Amino acid sequence: MNIITRFAPSPTGYLHLGNIRVALYSWLFARNNKGKFFLRIEDTDIKRYNKKYVDNIFYLLDWLGLYWDNNVYFQSKNIDLYNYYIDLLLNKGLAYKCYCSYERLINIRKKCILSKIKPKYDGYCRNKNLNYKNIKYVVRFKNLLSDNVKFKDLIFGKLNFKNKELDDFIIKRSNGLPTYNFCVVIDDNEMLITDIIRGSEHINNTPKQINLLKSLNFKKPRYIHLPIILDKYKKKLSKRNYTYNINNYIDNGYLPNTLISYLLKLGIYNNNLEINDINKLKSIFNFNNINKSPCIIDDNKIIILNKYYINNIGYNSLIYYIKPFFLDKNINMNKINNIYKIFFVILERIYFLYQIVDFYILINNNNFKLDLNVLNKFNLKYNIIIKIFIKKFNKLYFWSIQNIKYIINNYVNKNNLKNKYIYSLLRYILIGKRHGIDLFKIIFILNKKEVLLRLNNCCKI
Ligand code: GLU
Repeated sequence: MNIITRFAPSPTGYLHLGNIRVALYSWLFARNNKGKFFLRIEDTDIKRYNKKYVDNIFYLLDWLGLYWDNNVYFQSKNIDLYNYYIDLLLNKGLAYKCYCSYERLINIRKKCILSKIKPKYDGYCRNKNLNYKNIKYVVRFKNLLSDNVKFKDLIFGKLNFKNKELDDFIIKRSNGLPTYNFCVVIDDNEMLITDIIRGSEHINNTPKQINLLKSLNFKKPRYIHLPIILDKYKKKLSKRNYTYNINNYIDNGYLPNTLISYLLKLGIYNNNLEINDINKLKSIFNFNNINKSPCIIDDNKIIILNKYYINNIGYNSLIYYIKPFFLDKNINMNKINNIYKIFFVILERIYFLYQIVDFYILINNNNFKLDLNVLNKFNLKYNIIIKIFIKKFNKLYFWSIQNIKYIINNYVNKNNLKNKYIYSLLRYILIGKRHGIDLFKIIFILNKKEVLLRLNNCCKI
């Protein structure tokens, strides 16, 4: 059987880590099995719909490299098909029109809560075959009253629900639009989905969907519900919370590989932190390895992974990913001629992409003002020292980190000085900061001309 999976986001907010985990696993399961992966936009909730969310879904899947097959499937373009099946169910007596008022429904709910039973519709219109003109109604599915719905979930195992506890749920709203539980069944059948992979918050929807698909004689797909992801405060992720929003990770200088590898490792038994090779992680991915208990996001692990991938994706890919950060600061990357040197110097120190730009700005800023008080605090005859270094650097033919290091350390040793003072003094003169990045690397990256210029400028104050 050819595997067909789908990612079916509702464009009601920006996607978070939990959402893209569903996309990633669905994509990977299809790819690993030479199957197909489809994208379906579930856009029938017109109140919360926004086009910017749809555009963002495309953008994020592209950023993550989770490309889908065929055209995107929009539920909103399928209303005729849904109506066709709703009419079919009505005609077969498997669904009915319900005219109950809002007040009545609220009352039923209150009564259920008072008698400590799960709120559900009392079936008032169920067998009345009502059909009024010009009065608003909803269409409800006639759920079975006896027996159980059983299904096997690949992660949660065998699940069993009593029909009498399920509701005669609404399949068409009073505004004429079909509901989530209904559309999903029609679409999954239409798209020939074999494996439904989604968050475990949908487990309770599954028996309703199974009853519906049975009544329409559709084939039952396999179900794989992914355990819930919690934030560090053990709260469910929400599209409203920006922290775990994927756009936030992008803005904060994370790489797609970081999120992909973190999500692949998340919740896996024997979570092996040693494996960071994305291709290996993808090839060993398997639902049988997934733990059904909730996963708690570990922000530090994500940061450490990001450092790893920044150092390992290769300079050309890095250039691609840092471009937007330079653009954001109005810096044209094409004009930077020492970007590889910058990578070489800075990568091992950083955790986020934007730090590359910060470093570039730091070393290219020759507009900083040196403070005489700070210079005097070094308690060194800095003017004399600088002049000596000007001479030494001037004579240096091959501008390498080794040679720069040799010149400075040799001077420090011969004059019995403390190297931390000299390092700090030179760093301050060259970039206006006393602490931080390795001095030799700074001198190396600034290049001879700029170093001599900055040292000379300092002599003038
Ligand atoms: N639109 C649903 C969601 O965003 C997906 C439901 C499904 O995969 O069946 O949660």
